[in-house]
Amino acid sequence: MHLQNVIENFQTFNNFARNEANGGINRIAFTHPERLAALKFSMLCQKAGLDVYFDFFGNVIARREGKYPSLKPIVLGSHIDTVKDGGQYDGLLGVLGALEVVEHLNTHNIETDHPIIIIAFACEESTRFNEATLGSKYLTGKMTKEDMKFIKDNEGNILYDIVAPLAQDMHGKTALFERNKIKAFLELHIEQGPILENNHKDIGIVTDIAAPHRFKLKVQGVTSHSGSTPMPMRTDALTTAAEIILKIEALGQAYHDKGIVTTVGYAQVYPNTMNAIPGEVTLLIDIRGKDKTIREQVVSEMHQSIDAITKHRHSNYHIEDLGQDTPRSFNQTIAQISEEKCQHLNYEYRYMYSGAGHDAMNFAPICPTSMIFIPCKDGISHSPKESVTYEQVEKGVNLLIHTTIELAKSDIILEG
Ligand SMILES: [Zn+2]
Repeated sequence: MHLQNVIENFQTFNNFARNEANGGINRIAFTHPERLAALKFSMLCQKAGLDVYFDFFGNVIARREGKYPSLKPIVLGSHIDTVKDGGQYDGLLGVLGALEVVEHLNTHNIETDHPIIIIAFACEESTRFNEATLGSKYLTGKMTKEDMKFIKDNEGNILYDIVAPLAQDMHGKTALFERNKIKAFLELHIEQGPILENNHKDIGIVTDIAAPHRFKLKVQGVTSHSGSTPMPMRTDALTTAAEIILKIEALGQAYHDKGIVTTVGYAQVYPNTMNAIPGEVTLLIDIRGKDKTIREQVVSEMHQSIDAITKHRHSNYHIEDLGQDTPRSFNQTIAQISEEKCQHLNYEYRYMYSGAGHDAMNFAPICPTSMIFIPCKDGISHSPKESVTYEQVEKGVNLLIHTTIELAKSDIILEG
């Protein structure tokens, strides 16, 4: 592979999306810098001799023909958008890595048995529409055009109205991928956590992807004067909420070794002044796990605890289920192929699961799917501080190349 090409591409894409004040990268879904990046990617694909098009949602899809065009394609890709003031590698690594796979095949005149499709997904981050992985949801049929009419951004704009005017003429090509139409989907991504770095590993081979179950909890107390209401006569919604928050943290700690993490990341206090007892607190709760049964066990314990704590403190509550995603297990044969390649390349690797959601999770139900992680500094992402070394990038992309070449052989059979 040509590391220099990959580095230069990172610079090109990030230079026109950088917030000079803090170094953060801003390619928020369907903003000018994000669409410019999608266009730039499509031009690079064209230059690499690929058959490239945009689908209705603005995903960029590019195909390199195989020796046998009727065979199912190997699909590679990740997302081109970022969060507000995000990092330089989240998403873009998997997009530029996929492009480098094609460049490598071109440079070495390698004709693969199976076709290879590379994709830059639009709108993976939930920053704008409060829902994640929308581009891959559209492509895999989990979100229809009709659904887009009911999804709004933070300013109330309707997703469909944003996407439709941008939609390209697809020359009759079908955009949606269907079940059993893809041989394998593979995504390269930064870990966005500290596990690989702390264990001195070059590569994480991802076995499962955890998924959240989310709730909005309103705790109802009684607002009254902070000076004239004696302690035994108060119904303080904030102290009740505090007890609930600590209980939710304790549940996460108790189930930590079963792959559970629990977070209360948002709290709103009413009236939120120094001299009034808080009468109402709203919390947003995020419970995640790679095993749905265990996650739902934690959820039911959380419900019991909220009930007990509010009863004990004579306050009321209302809990709203904000929805859940299904944890996904990835394909074991692809993981084994990546493992063999790591051994061959002398890369330090480990098996792990992903706590964060990725586009790959939408492919797991429709085709054999896998992910490759590389470490990032201090596990930090979604921040201008997000950082990886070029050596780490090189190893990740190289493994993506070797795994893809193996998957694209017609005598490699994948189950599932
Ligand atoms: Zn990402």
